[in-house]
Amino acid sequence: MKTIDHKTELLEKLTEAGIRPSMQRLEILEFISSCKSHPTADEIYAFVHRNNPTMSRTTVFNSVRLLAEKGLINDINIAADSTRYDSADYTPHAHFICRECKRIFDIPFDMSALTTPDDFACDNVNVYFKGICPECRKKTEQTI
Ligand SMILES: [Zn+2]
Ligand SMILES: [Zn+2]
Repeated sequence: MKTIDHKTELLEKLTEAGIRPSMQRLEILEFISSCKSHPTADEIYAFVHRNNPTMSRTTVFNSVRLLAEKGLINDINIAADSTRYDSADYTPHAHFICRECKRIFDIPFDMSALTTPDDFACDNVNVYFKGICPECRKKTEQTI
């Protein structure tokens, strides 16, 4: 039952954002909101393509870009290699990218003080930190 409600909720979000709620877009949005690993568009494509072998890479990439433009997902340009995405539903948080394992962590951060001058219409704020995550710190400490 819970999954049906969630799907309906996502469908409503698409419609509210003025996006035609196709099955592809719904599936992409559903995957991103259930995925905690900040997937790249390529990773999203790999997942969606498994269930829908007919869906092209271009369709997936265009849908992902559209969802980000409409604010339904966040695009995070942390790593030089590619943009990553996470759900816009999560509590606003900062990201921490580990230089060792390249993982991206959600870290609590108060974003309320980050504002732009009134005449700038901002729709997305990204805060990120770079460094070494606790796990990798432990590993390096052990080898020293
Ligand atoms: Zn690490
Ligand atoms: Zn995140």
